[in-house]
Amino acid sequence: GSDVLYLGMDFGTSGARAMVINEQQELVADARQVYGAEASSGWTGAWERSLGELLGKLPPKVRQAIASIAIDGTSATSLLLDRQTGQVLAPAKLYNESQGGAIVKLAQAIAPASHTATASTSTFCKLLTWHDQGIWQEAQQQGHQPVLQHQADWLASLLHGRRTTTDYNNALKLGYNPGADCYPGWLSSQPFAGLLPAEVFAPGDPVAPVTPEAAERLGLPPHCLVCAGTTDSIAAFLAAGATEIGEAVSSLGSTLAIKLLSESRVDDAKYGVYSHRLGHTWLVGGASNTGGAVLRQHFSDAQLLELTPHIDPSQPSGLDYYPLTAKGERFPINDPDLPPCLEPRPEDDARFLHGILEGIAHVEAQAYRLLLEMGASPLTKVYTAGGGAKNPVWTAIRARQLGVPVVPSPQAEAAFGSALLARQGYHKSLR
Ligand code: ADP
Repeated sequence: GSDVLYLGMDFGTSGARAMVINEQQELVADARQVYGAEASSGWTGAWERSLGELLGKLPPKVRQAIASIAIDGTSATSLLLDRQTGQVLAPAKLYNESQGGAIVKLAQAIAPASHTATASTSTFCKLLTWHDQGIWQEAQQQGHQPVLQHQADWLASLLHGRRTTTDYNNALKLGYNPGADCYPGWLSSQPFAGLLPAEVFAPGDPVAPVTPEAAERLGLPPHCLVCAGTTDSIAAFLAAGATEIGEAVSSLGSTLAIKLLSESRVDDAKYGVYSHRLGHTWLVGGASNTGGAVLRQHFSDAQLLELTPHIDPSQPSGLDYYPLTAKGERFPINDPDLPPCLEPRPEDDARFLHGILEGIAHVEAQAYRLLLEMGASPLTKVYTAGGGAKNPVWTAIRARQLGVPVVPSPQAEAAFGSALLARQGYHKSLR
């Protein structure tokens, strides 16, 4: 039939994923691609290959029905590009690449105190490094027109050919002010301000159709629309199902990350808490060092499955743990010296596990309470993703501590969240 399909692509840390949904938001196709060992010698090459290979893995019929595409990438992964030719002028710096101490000091002197742009891994610090090394200045003298692109912007540019666009989620760590919807004065007055992506879209907003060349080469329909993307963690949030103010997503993987849809914006660099804009709401997030990695230190996943049924979630364990793999916590307690507390260890392994699950749930509840104290909207419901979401006993313990319903997310893939953005963008383009 005349099914209209939407493609979301997620470029994560080790591989990429494509998910195609229909109008009813049902998954109709799914493909994965690992970057491979050669990736570190040239990330842009690996991402570009993955983009083509992922599309190639989609059935031609599906590909030909794709009405719109949105791409998410890892936050603060960025590169310098020639806006005219698309030539890479400075190889990509990855999301987790810390810039030097002198650069961070410089960032702190330029940006407001404790702004997210002053983090050593921020896009702003990466841009400062390129500036400090004279990379863009030299390229400009050679006749290039340098521009900064985030990973997601650059991948989208391979489809629509525009090289000065971004979205306000990706641009947050560059220093963009999503509330005022502009680059702040401290940034736009810099000598490298000409490198900032000039058009900053709302995630999911229609940007431009694919170029005829890209459509031909990748087997996409010529009218296929490319929408503004977002970061991988926001795409994962969108996938997880929270849509109303007060709804949140807790990711229980190796560590615990929480994100709450709030009416008000909350930022506190001391706790690593900051807000992304999502339309008229704010996505307030923070991350604790507690999480499943502590479980891994003591139990295999098989042992977790075996011991869990021996735990009664309606009863307290009587233990008072603060589970960490090493000393140091940021949120909800900011103390780089906070020691792990996993003592006393009971004889009974099931009781020990009970104490750890309860301890992590306690940290989670404390984290949401702190967001409330900082001015975020009250919590009404928690969706949960990651390895810990599979454990129903833990879910029951958490629901008791949080005092709101806790439900596993039906979907947690960032690519699915990007597909939702593509769908939204297509609908906007019809209005
Ligand atoms: P990440 O991607 O952050 O490494 P995952 O989302 O894959 O993490 O989750 C892995 C974590 O889930 C591990 O730390 C593991 O201890 C935990 N985990 C796996 N199975 C269970 C279970 N049945 N109950 C609780 N935690 C579990």
